[in-house]
Formats: sequence, C-alpha cells, structure tokens
Amino acid sequence: MSNLDKMLERNKDFAAQQFAAGTLMPSLPRALPNVKAIIIGCADMRVDPAHVLGTKPGEAVVMRNIGGRITPGLLEQLGLLGRIGDVAGEIPGGGGEFHIIVLQHTDCGITRLAGDPAMLMDYFQIQEAELKAKAVTDPRAAVAGDAASLRAIPALPGEWLVSGLVYDVATGLVEIVVPPAPIRTA
Ligand SMILES: [Zn+2]
Repeated sequence: MSNLDKMLERNKDFAAQQFAAGTLMPSLPRALPNVKAIIIGCADMRVDPAHVLGTKPGEAVVMRNIGGRITPGLLEQLGLLGRIGDVAGEIPGGGGEFHIIVLQHTDCGITRLAGDPAMLMDYFQIQEAELKAKAVTDPRAAVAGDAASLRAIPALPGEWLVSGLVYDVATGLVEIVVPPAPIRTA
C-alpha cells in the first residue's frame, strides 16, 4: 500500500466520522462562531497546530510557511484572507477573545539557512544589514520580533490578541514567549 493509499484510507475514516458528528462544513459560513484564532506556524512536519495545540476543524485559520515567520508574502495572504472572509468584521466578540498566535519552534529548518543570507534577504525582502534582527537562529527572539511586527500593522483590529509561542520539539511542550496582549491599547 502506497503512502497515498494509506492517506486515502484515513480520509474515508475522517469523512465518515465528521459526517456522523455533523462537523463537516460544506460551505464557508458567513459568520464564523467557532474561529478563535489565526495561527501562523512553520511548515515543518513536526509542528502541525492540529497536533501540537489540538485545534479542531473550524477552530482556527492556520497559515504555515518556512519558520512560521511574518514575511511580506505571509502578510499578503493575511490581507487576502481578510477580503475572503471579511475576517476582521465577522469575528464575533471582538472583546479580546480573538487571537493571532505566532507558533515557532526549536530545531527549525530555517536555522540551516543562516549561512545563506541572499535567500533569507529575498524571503523577508530586506537588506543584509536587517537580517540580524530577524534572529533566524533564535526562535524566542524571532517570535518576539514577529509579534512586535504584527502589532505595528494598523490594519489589524486593535482588540485582537497577539501571542508568541515556541514549541520545543524535544519535549512536545509549548512555551509562552510573548504573553497574549491586545494589538493596541486604546
Ligand atoms: Zn520550522
């Protein structure tokens, strides 16, 4: 049995269970009552938020890239997401219960790009002098920097919470590096 065959077998189980439980979402709801977060995470196969944080279907929008970093490309997608779902206007509550969670991790593959500044400069669309501030070899510093850069985006609703987490691939535990706080205080 190929890997794809195994995945397709699992998909049949998934479909049957979700259908029976009534948790399939055949269309994108206009209002998204269960969405609690946008999680920005790394593409690494070890750090899927559905596993690490136990997110269930419909609970979080997950955006993954190399490193779980705030890049121009990520921000572009975040902007499109706002258009698609009118996320900013449709998230209920707005009273500080909606989260943007930046989830980075130890032993991230992006650290292996540290010796390739041209590639990183292109990824972040920055000059070489700015590269050090991206802290690609230090996930705690990187997550703090990325949370700060989210707070600097005027288009994001001020009452949304931003958090920065680092997942330790050796222990399976997540550390809160940036405690949840509103993007802007009034
Ligand atoms: Zn990674």
